[in-house]
Amino acid sequence: MIAGITGDPLVYLNGDFTPLSQAKISVLDRGFIFGDGVYEVVPVYARKPFRMAQHLERLARSLAAIRIPNPHGAAEWQDLVQQLIDTSGADDQFVYLQVTRGVAKRDHAFPEHVVPTVFGMTSPFARPSAVQRENGVQAVSMPDERWLHCEIKSVSLLGNVLARQFAVDRGAQEVVMFRDGFLSEGSSSNIWVVKDGRLLAPLKNHLILEGIRYGFIEEMAAARGIAFDMRPIAQSEVAAADELMLSSATKEILPIVSLDGRPVGNGRPGPVYARLRQGYDEAIAAL
Ligand code: PMP
Repeated sequence: MIAGITGDPLVYLNGDFTPLSQAKISVLDRGFIFGDGVYEVVPVYARKPFRMAQHLERLARSLAAIRIPNPHGAAEWQDLVQQLIDTSGADDQFVYLQVTRGVAKRDHAFPEHVVPTVFGMTSPFARPSAVQRENGVQAVSMPDERWLHCEIKSVSLLGNVLARQFAVDRGAQEVVMFRDGFLSEGSSSNIWVVKDGRLLAPLKNHLILEGIRYGFIEEMAAARGIAFDMRPIAQSEVAAADELMLSSATKEILPIVSLDGRPVGNGRPGPVYARLRQGYDEAIAAL
């Protein structure tokens, strides 16, 4: 039994659905050997995928960025996601999709003839608890030590794994990372700053993963009349923020109430968070 997984759910591997315990890949898979692959996480509410088109577009962009031919068109991917949802009894799920360059003799350069490995699974999704939503989470600052293609949703996640552990080792739930003195993102989330009623987020460039929630929150801000600026954000501005938030498929949107042991604003989730949270819940209820 794999830690944290109960039962033996069906997973998708290269055209077949098989029990997780029997799904096997070659040790020469370039995902295993080099981290040469990309992935997506699509949240599913009441058995309906949320923002699937945007997730599939980002998957296509990640694949193109590392020159893996997209093994499926959007309709095929949608079909696969639906089939995965159907294998599960859970109403709320997150569907994980991964494509690696495939299996080949170990050599850094791209192999000439190789078939991408396609893997998919779904897991029950425990939405952020009322306690997290109402009390927020703790974060710690750290330098962003990752590479310069953070826009690619790569399975090479060592930098992100070490960043998350940095937080865990300090009793926090997430890091807030800075590169050359400017905000980038969390280990597995985008970070939002509120100052004087304005919502701020870093530029969408190669230094962050453009979250699907990034676009969604941007839309909500426009629809709800929340002033929004996308620009470089200095570490000193983050330290002086009225509110901080994080967003990701699995954390949705959560207030960060302390940074490096100091309260953010008054140490309670703020009014901009409350408005965005309401918008998030309404969008999910309307699915
Ligand atoms: N940045 C990183 C590094 C992430 O891993 C994630 C989670 N996928 C995000 C941002 C947020 O992206 P999304 O809203 O699509 O989950």
